[in-house]
Amino acid sequence: MPTPVTLIPGDGIGPSITDATLRVLDAAGADIAWDRQLAGMAAVTAAGDPVPDATLDAIERSKVALKGPLETPVGEGYRSINVALRQRFDLYANVRPVYTIIPGGRYEDVDIVLVRENTEGLYIGIEHYVRIGDDPRAVAESLAVITRFGSERIVRYAFEYAASRGRKKVTLAHKANILKASSGLFLDVGRDIAKEYEGRVEFEDVIIDALAMKLVLNPERYDVIVTTNLFGDILSDLLAGLVGGLGLAPGANIGTTAAMFEAVHGTAPDIAGKGVANPSAVLLAACLMLEHLGDAERARRIREALVATIREKKSVTRDLGGTASTDQFTDAVIARLQG
Ligand code: NAD
Repeated sequence: MPTPVTLIPGDGIGPSITDATLRVLDAAGADIAWDRQLAGMAAVTAAGDPVPDATLDAIERSKVALKGPLETPVGEGYRSINVALRQRFDLYANVRPVYTIIPGGRYEDVDIVLVRENTEGLYIGIEHYVRIGDDPRAVAESLAVITRFGSERIVRYAFEYAASRGRKKVTLAHKANILKASSGLFLDVGRDIAKEYEGRVEFEDVIIDALAMKLVLNPERYDVIVTTNLFGDILSDLLAGLVGGLGLAPGANIGTTAAMFEAVHGTAPDIAGKGVANPSAVLLAACLMLEHLGDAERARRIREALVATIREKKSVTRDLGGTASTDQFTDAVIARLQG
């Protein structure tokens, strides 16, 4: 029985890089029944809504989605795509693995998985201005909400991720020296849960600013990092920078009722329609999806073919220093896979 997966090709370069990804998965023998659905500008054009209910219902049925980048329409009346997806499926864990693919860069042995809490913290959007005298915006206040429940489930997710993949260490990033209540609660919960994994997964905690410096100096020291929403947002781009930028960065959004896999980059309007986009990030996201579906061996084979193609440099896209089109690059990955 083929595994049902909702496919959202997305906007801009989305359709071409998701097509490329499907070709590679097909060549690797993945038995998936794709349910194509619209979101983003494509859905606004077709249905007047960037996240149609039909798309949400499809994800609810399949419980797994592969998503191309979406253009977020600016303007009144449109639902935020990410908020709608996060709320409906409680996508609490944002998982971003980064590792060195292209040798000869600044760092050789980076292999880090960032696990970011995605539903709490400063990003819950509870904020307001306070008027003083005739200045309506004299003061701005934002509320950071950290719950024991939310902290426990994200830290546990990080430990389970580490334990199930043979990873050695979880580093918890916080600012409990200043934010004694919110970051302090997150740290306390982390320390408690770490005890359950003693002897299996090491644990350390590091203050976020110190971690930023240490990551730039010695990124190879880190394995799995777990942190709250805002710190995770900033760290995820820092980590992508350590391994050469967003072009090779996949992400997974894991929820209680569904999981969604995507590239970290956007719709690349400057190169859309030119057939030169690099499909690697979506392909790597599809590998995360295969692992999620219990097909880790196929994910490993695809990743190996992709990395070998990139390292050989003969048939790579412009952003990787080559001249190949999306199709030529994809053909080269498929040839490796089948060779
Ligand atoms: P972007 O990531 O689309 O592009 C930044 C630069 O990277 C561009 O020069 C682009 O050509 C290049 N680039 C990105 N992906 C590439 C690829 N696969 N191959 C080769 N080059 C690539 O960022 P942006 O320009 O800030 O955003 C464009 C649109 O994408 C916006 O509408 C934004 O809202 C949306 N966006 C969506 C997501 C998502 O759906 N996950 C994420 C980020 C941005």
